[in-house]
Amino acid sequence: MSHRALNGVCHAWLQPGGWGLSNAGLITGRGESLLVDTLMDVRLTRDMLAGLAPVTADKPITRLVNTHGNPDHWFGNQLLADAEIITAEAAAREMRAIGPGDLLAMCAGGAFAHEVFGRFAIDEVVPTYPNRTFDGRLDLDVGGVAVRLIDVGPAHTAADVVVHVPEARTVFAGDIVFAGTTPVVWAGPVGNWLKACRLLLDLDVDTVVPGHGPVCGPPAVRAMEQYLEFVLDEAGRRFAAGMPFADAARDIDLGPFAGLGEPERLAVNVHAVYRELDPTLPPLPGPQAFARMGEELS
Ligand SMILES: [Zn+2]
Repeated sequence: MSHRALNGVCHAWLQPGGWGLSNAGLITGRGESLLVDTLMDVRLTRDMLAGLAPVTADKPITRLVNTHGNPDHWFGNQLLADAEIITAEAAAREMRAIGPGDLLAMCAGGAFAHEVFGRFAIDEVVPTYPNRTFDGRLDLDVGGVAVRLIDVGPAHTAADVVVHVPEARTVFAGDIVFAGTTPVVWAGPVGNWLKACRLLLDLDVDTVVPGHGPVCGPPAVRAMEQYLEFVLDEAGRRFAAGMPFADAARDIDLGPFAGLGEPERLAVNVHAVYRELDPTLPPLPGPQAFARMGEELS
């Protein structure tokens, strides 16, 4: 994990790796900073805050934005309990619905979930929820730096906040962008995620900090569009042909996307498309989703 200064006001905290290892961001203004996301557990978040301390010493973190409700973006919130903690309304609801106890139960009940989340100190997490929520958009001033929050969800989850810093031509995309690794469609619809990608491209930024993967730019957003269009098309054709969901993911040849990390997420993504095409199909509960992905790898 490492700190990277991107320009005068934006910084990234990067955690290369697979499941549960996410990126965070920092926006600094006069006398204060805004943190974009905490990490999967308190230890990782404490290390990050120590790593960012040279920057935040005279610009303390007064505000935190959680981009969405997945644990790897807010389970470290308890270290910033005194800050204003902001997220979208629907993301706050997801945080209250799925907490550390649910994740621990999932790890105890499933081999693949344990394999990917067992290494994090989830038992130390005390859920610390946002104390300010918004719908749609929210404009902030961080020590003289204009910061725009836009909820572009539902897409990856029920709400997905992107954090745009126009003067730095930078956007913190949260999990709307996975760079070099497979995105996972927990909520969908996929069409709305594609719209979110279009919005990101229309922001006309140079720098994109993805939720996972290295710092990138607009080409990584276009690569996301291509993967999502591929899944819509491949899953849609198999749905139309009457192929059961359980067979569809295995039947798809990933072709140009075969090199992306965590390819097992295709199973969840195919299910999201099947749900869109057959609204009577209920969402896959977390434990089942991880079991399916584990089977995908076996
Ligand atoms: Zn994530």
